Amino acid sequence: MDTRYVGRFAPSPSGYMHMGNLLAMLLAWLDCRAHGGRLIFRMEDLDPARSRAEYAAALAEDLRWLGFDWDEGYPDPAYCQSRRTELYADAFRALEARGLVYPCWCTRSQRLAASAPHPGKRSHDPGCRCAHLTAAERTALAADRRPAWKARVPDETVTVQDGHYGTYAQALAAEGDFILRRADGVYAYQLAVSVDDMRMGVTDVVRGRDLLSSAPRQSWLIRELGGTPPRYCHLPLLTGGNGGGKLSKRLGSLSTQALRSQYAPRKLIGRLAYLAGLLPAPEPVSPVELIPLFSWDKVPRADIPIASEPI
Ligand code: GLU
Repeated sequence: MDTRYVGRFAPSPSGYMHMGNLLAMLLAWLDCRAHGGRLIFRMEDLDPARSRAEYAAALAEDLRWLGFDWDEGYPDPAYCQSRRTELYADAFRALEARGLVYPCWCTRSQRLAASAPHPGKRSHDPGCRCAHLTAAERTALAADRRPAWKARVPDETVTVQDGHYGTYAQALAAEGDFILRRADGVYAYQLAVSVDDMRMGVTDVVRGRDLLSSAPRQSWLIRELGGTPPRYCHLPLLTGGNGGGKLSKRLGSLSTQALRSQYAPRKLIGRLAYLAGLLPAPEPVSPVELIPLFSWDKVPRADIPIASEPI
């Protein structure tokens, strides 16, 4: 086992898994196993309003049913974000001590901060005035209600060498300051995922390309916290077909729960491997059988349309 490679799979238990999550797990699992690495299964149940224990249990059961394994993680509570609040608080205080945090009373950003910024959602607000409030203005606002807390990003361009999409550069200031902690005390996705990847020793992040634009902010946070950012390798998204957007958990007919009642696991894995360019045809196969066939060169960069009937 190559202990220099530590990968992770980090779904949010806010619904049942769908083909998009499964494709991310397949490629994260294959990349890790092809490198002889160690795989962590982290449960991103950060937002108590959206996360449900039954979804977390179903995610794990679906993955096992499909033939995936992992070396550490769920159900160990140490790998559940809901149980790691103290670590996020430590990181928040470290950033605060360095003058990188300020209170923000904008309501829109508070709502969005805990979930990962998938398309259609914005987690930052470039127009926010709160960074420039006077002490007196802050005191007046604080008397009314509790603020969210934002990271003050520098005027710096962060470049990520993505393993699949190549060089990705982002001017942090153009993207805007972003939420670290919501007004209700829930730590935001960007902080939690950066702290977790750093503290869990993750060296390689494989996930959907909708999070590529978060990689520079996460690299910056990890460096500010004294860590080394992981390598990133993003994968194309499955789209709903007919010009539809990214698959959503609302498309119930594509949830793993629905698929499990109709299809054998090898058939589902074969379909995913075919969509990912690893097989010339959707033949039944197990994850282990795909290890020798795996190469990022075969995986498309363009998003992958999928008909509503996936098999
Ligand atoms: N938990 C996030 C999601 O389910 C993924 C986070 C990540 O891979 O960085 O969308």
